[in-house]
Amino acid sequence: MNTQFSNGTKLDLAIQERFCNLPNMGKVQAEYVWLGGGFEARCKTKTLDKAPESVADLPVWNYDGSSTGQAPGSDSEVLLKPCAIFNDPFRGAPHILVLCSTHLPDVDAPLGLGKGIPTNTRDACNEIMEKVKASEPWFGIEQEYTLFEADGITPFGWPKGGMPIRPQGPYYCSVGAENAFGRPIVESHYRACMYAGVNISGINGEVMPGQWEYQVGPCTGIDSGDHLTMSRYILNRVCEQFGIVVSYDPKPIEGDWNGAGCHTNFSTKEMREEGGYDKIIEALERLGAPGKQEEHLAAYDPNGGKDNARRLTGAHETASAEKFTYGVANRGCSARIPRMTEKEKKGYFEDRRPSSNMDPYIVTAKIIETCVLPDFS
Ligand code: ADP
Ligand code: MN
Ligand code: MN
Ligand code: MN
Ligand code: MN
Repeated sequence: MNTQFSNGTKLDLAIQERFCNLPNMGKVQAEYVWLGGGFEARCKTKTLDKAPESVADLPVWNYDGSSTGQAPGSDSEVLLKPCAIFNDPFRGAPHILVLCSTHLPDVDAPLGLGKGIPTNTRDACNEIMEKVKASEPWFGIEQEYTLFEADGITPFGWPKGGMPIRPQGPYYCSVGAENAFGRPIVESHYRACMYAGVNISGINGEVMPGQWEYQVGPCTGIDSGDHLTMSRYILNRVCEQFGIVVSYDPKPIEGDWNGAGCHTNFSTKEMREEGGYDKIIEALERLGAPGKQEEHLAAYDPNGGKDNARRLTGAHETASAEKFTYGVANRGCSARIPRMTEKEKKGYFEDRRPSSNMDPYIVTAKIIETCVLPDFS
């Protein structure tokens, strides 16, 4: 049997497996997952006496927000509100992952749950999605990411301190040990997401060696942010087991190497129906209205557009950040209309601008705010 190691150390995963195969004595392990002060994934586990039927059966919990950059030490409690349940691919059934939103305590509020803390972007997104529910908004997000050695500076598959001998070209959708670096991680993550109930719709190797993509969607409304957030958490956990570091930086390596984005494919019920093409053009025109490019770019990465500015240069399959453009089948535009959508005169469009480290709650809400909300207010 192959011995597997965790974190590049001598921690033998086969020994862990021996213990984890012991009976769980009827208990359920619930892994509460939330986002910390820098939008990084955080988690901790609670033992339950039985499996919940819905989030309403799960207790509100709390954590030390002063340790995640989200609260002062003198009043450190942040509350966790269970929002969505997924199967736990790491522990297996009946154990679960619980996606949570983060709140201030309020003794007078139901369950003691107060307002969302500043990093709780889910609540505002949910409010918008509820308003436009009748439009049935779908999102399909293409998450690109880069694998690094445990040192965090050498892209996986690259020589230490150097560059691949061959430039970009053979790596995208590639096969072969000379091209595809990290497939065991990609395959593990793919199946783990399926098991979890994350709506993962595909994977592919990316243009820069060591870079990969998976797609989540189409998901309706708030599910998009929930499923993408959980898919990232699962990727972090899978990489941890392999002793590999995952980066969501939009331009992890300077120079003639592609950056990483989160293309966001979008449609409403009207766009998907007969005559939908006009609705698509209308939405794209709204995205191109004065001031909108700046507004959207500020929302498309967690640093007000600064991260993404390194990526949106006009080269490497991106459009320049200067100006909003759209076109059919054009990967050099800010937004692309798929050829099939043009042909069938209905379908969806792709916003190519969001950064790989974007907040899906902010991005999906922003798209709705510009493209759909005016029709509902
Ligand atoms: P690309 O050709 O840009 O690489 P991908 O195949 O990687 O596209 O991703 C396309 C995404 O769009 C998938 O997640 C898919 O589920 C999603 N998608 C397909 N149809 C729609 C639609 N009508 N509305 C929104 N998203 C959609
Ligand atoms: Mn403690
Ligand atoms: Mn893609
Ligand atoms: Mn891609
Ligand atoms: Mn794309």
